[in-house]
Amino acid sequence: MTLGQNQELFSKDLTHLLNFIHNNGYDVRIGEAERTKEQQEIYIKSGKTKTLDSLHLKRCAIDLHIFFNGSWIQSKSELQFIGDYWEQLSKNNKWGGNFKNFIGTPHFERRLE
Ligand SMILES: [Zn+2]
Repeated sequence: MTLGQNQELFSKDLTHLLNFIHNNGYDVRIGEAERTKEQQEIYIKSGKTKTLDSLHLKRCAIDLHIFFNGSWIQSKSELQFIGDYWEQLSKNNKWGGNFKNFIGTPHFERRLE
């Protein structure tokens, strides 16, 4: 599968995810999607990430800031059902809230096939 085909499947699943979040009464403020290598290096230096291999560099990841009644929800426990929904859409979908080393609840990505 080409990178472009992976990107297209990612955006299709993202449609389902955004609908799911909205249908549950939450609001979304879009965060970062595409990221340059230069930006990634800045994040490594500042401790915001630990890898140069982020799927943001391949436009197969997005950060979503999820709100409920105007409050930004960041805890893993409150967002778990949304992460679970994302991961059941495809075996390639991973939610940052489930990462072992570096938890990032706004982060949703699709691993490349
Ligand atoms: Zn991210």
